[in-house]
Amino acid sequence: MVKLKFLDRPKLSIWERIIFLDFIKGLRVTFKNLIRKTITTKYPYEKLTPPKRFRGVHAHRVKDGNEPLSFSVLGKFMEIGYDESRCVACYMCQQACPMPTLFKIEAVQLPDGKKRVTKFEMNLLNCLYCGLCVDACPVDCLIMTDVYESASYNRENCVIKMDDMSDRGRDFDRRRLKEKDRIWIDNEERTKLWGQIRWT
Ligand code: SF4
Ligand code: SF4
Repeated sequence: MVKLKFLDRPKLSIWERIIFLDFIKGLRVTFKNLIRKTITTKYPYEKLTPPKRFRGVHAHRVKDGNEPLSFSVLGKFMEIGYDESRCVACYMCQQACPMPTLFKIEAVQLPDGKKRVTKFEMNLLNCLYCGLCVDACPVDCLIMTDVYESASYNRENCVIKMDDMSDRGRDFDRRRLKEKDRIWIDNEERTKLWGQIRWT
């Protein structure tokens, strides 16, 4: 009969048998971490502001005079009022998404030949928060914000709509547009979370 090697119990030395050497080694690790600085937070009582480039709930930037150059071309074919979502219904975000069915984008053609977006919805239950849709948007309309509390008791609430997205976009830009585009808010914030990083 073939003897299975992995069933063999390791032979313990006399010291390991008498004073539980491995148990003491384990306790040493426990005590070492017991006196270390805590890096976790007491959520939901303590909430950290994520860095600007955090990939949170999506939003739409509005037409506010800060559009990229591409919008001056694409926007000509659109009926978009000031302070309204600057989406041009190009479907690039949907094309780039690994789960395209989570998008519902609809637009109509007006009598003057211009286009108007009538629906923009995203079902975040299917979203991976990968950010590919944001990268694909040619007019810097679709963004991801620092909002991370998106849990809900109701599935319907997980579908975000254009009006809410525009509100979130306005709020995000008001709070953070001028902030430097970096992964951490500042070095102090990074150190608070992760301690001093020693590069090796
Ligand atoms: S973040 Fe990724 S998965 Fe979510 S909508 Fe954008 S492309 Fe799709
Ligand atoms: S890529 Fe941007 S402009 Fe195009 S449909 Fe998506 S959000 Fe609208």
